[in-house]
Amino acid sequence: METNVKRFCLSEQGGPEVMQWSGQTLDEPGAGEVLLRQTAIGLNYIDTYHRSGLYPLELPSGLGVEAAGVVEAVGPECGDLAIGDRVGYCQGPIGAYAEARIMPADNLIPLPDGIDDTTAAAVLLKGLTAAFLLRKTFPVQAGQQVLVHAAAGGVGLLLVQWAKHLGARVIGSVGSPAKAELATQQGCDDVILYRQQAVAERVRALTEGRGVEVVYDSVGKDTFAASLDSLATRGMLVSYGNASGPAPEVKPLTLAQKGSLFLTRPTLWHYIERPAERLALTRELFALLEAGVLTVNINHTYALAEAPRAHRDLEARKTSGSVVLLP
Ligand code: NDP
Repeated sequence: METNVKRFCLSEQGGPEVMQWSGQTLDEPGAGEVLLRQTAIGLNYIDTYHRSGLYPLELPSGLGVEAAGVVEAVGPECGDLAIGDRVGYCQGPIGAYAEARIMPADNLIPLPDGIDDTTAAAVLLKGLTAAFLLRKTFPVQAGQQVLVHAAAGGVGLLLVQWAKHLGARVIGSVGSPAKAELATQQGCDDVILYRQQAVAERVRALTEGRGVEVVYDSVGKDTFAASLDSLATRGMLVSYGNASGPAPEVKPLTLAQKGSLFLTRPTLWHYIERPAERLALTRELFALLEAGVLTVNINHTYALAEAPRAHRDLEARKTSGSVVLLP
């Protein structure tokens, strides 16, 4: 049986105006696939890179990488998956901005009863990102000092709460006083207004001149230099995003001169491509959510058809926490 749905697609990359809300007919799921009726879709900054062209895409393309919903039909060879199962995902073919879609069963994460669909769409990609950054890329230890840029953002607030839970002292940077208040409520020990204050100077002042062991930098171009200058000897810059544009190139010798620093540019996919690793990180994330250690701040919801407006607001730095699109 065919299913008619509405979804966003791109035939060119550019501003939010290139997002086309159009009809699509879905066939029945094939081997290893399910038909997923989506109930909540996660908006992620990476969606703006796919839309704008910062990240290449094969066109025409769908848009979006994360959603939750209910399995409506199951193809052969889908293991234990059954009609009616609640699942989420944050990897697989791009195209999450859709009322329903065909998805590879292998990419689906069963959702526990304690995690509703909207929460799952708000936290899977961002929470697994916080998980791999804090637990794998630079495993944060109690007593360490950590700088989190864009601390009131979707990933940022999860990093702040989780780093605090691990016993770190957390310094956050944010773009406005309202975001400073939110980041403080969620666990930041100190907050820097990075549009007004000199970040590295403030970090040195807050750490008795030592600097922090790790900087988690999702802002990229605008913060990269200050991030390097905020590190303690042998500290690590984890450059994991480009909200202000891609980070500049750096000479290895610069890392030596600034204190035998480490620099890494990690991507979630490389930390969850092995099913066992994805499962372990997902379990840890869900356990912390269910225990109330992590709170998901769903501060904005939009109708799915309003996704271009959501992109404009995200890129204009008007949002905080997670943003969810509702079909
Ligand atoms: P956010 O909610 O963090 O939104 C981005 C925030 O970045 C803004 O709210 C803003 O906060 C800050 N920002 C700083 N400079 C700019 C600028 N010039 N333009 C726009 N925003 C700016 O988004 P997400 O939580 O979805 O993603 C956070 C980051 O993490 C992104 O850079 C994303 O690419 C990255 N990421 C990387 C992954 C990986 O695997 N490497 C996986 C997931 C996310 P403020 O107003 O406080 O400055």
